[in-house]
Amino acid sequence: MAVKKIVTYPAEILEAECEPVKVFDKKLGKLLNDMYDTMLEFDGVGLAAPQIGLARQIAIVDIDDDFGTIEMINPEILETNGEQTGPEGCLSFPGLYGEVTRPEYVKIKAQDRKGKYFTLEAEDFLARAILHEIDHLHGVLFTSKVTRYLNEEELEGLESE
Ligand SMILES: [Zn+2]
Repeated sequence: MAVKKIVTYPAEILEAECEPVKVFDKKLGKLLNDMYDTMLEFDGVGLAAPQIGLARQIAIVDIDDDFGTIEMINPEILETNGEQTGPEGCLSFPGLYGEVTRPEYVKIKAQDRKGKYFTLEAEDFLARAILHEIDHLHGVLFTSKVTRYLNEEELEGLESE
C-alpha cells in the first residue's frame, strides 16, 4: 500500500493539460494501485494523476456501486446528454463544495491498465464523477463550473473527487 500526497490548489500542475499514456507496463499498474490507495485514504470517489503530481491522462473513479473501480487511461468523451445540478467537492480543494451543473449521461472511450480499449456509459452521480476526473486531465477544475458554494450545514456527508 502506498498512499501519495495530494496536490492541493493552487498548483500549476492542476491546471496543466496532461500527456497521453503510451506505455502500458507494470509501473502503470503500480501507479493505479497507489492512486486507489490514495483515493481510499482520503475518502474520495475519484482521483486524477495530476492530483498526485503527474501530468498524465490517468484517472480512477469508485463511487462504491456495482461498477467497482473504473480505471480510465486516455479517456475521451463520446457523447453526453441531459443535465444535472448537484454538490461537488475535490480532494485538491479540502473542505470546499459547490453546486455544479453537468450532463446527466456520458459515454466514454478509454483504455484499461493493459492498454485495451473499452467504452462505458454512466448516469447520475457516476457520470458526474467521471466528468469531474476527465476535466482534471485537461487542467479544468470544478471551481470554474461552480454556480454556488455550499455552506457548512449543507456539507454534511459529502464526498470529494
Ligand atoms: Zn477533483
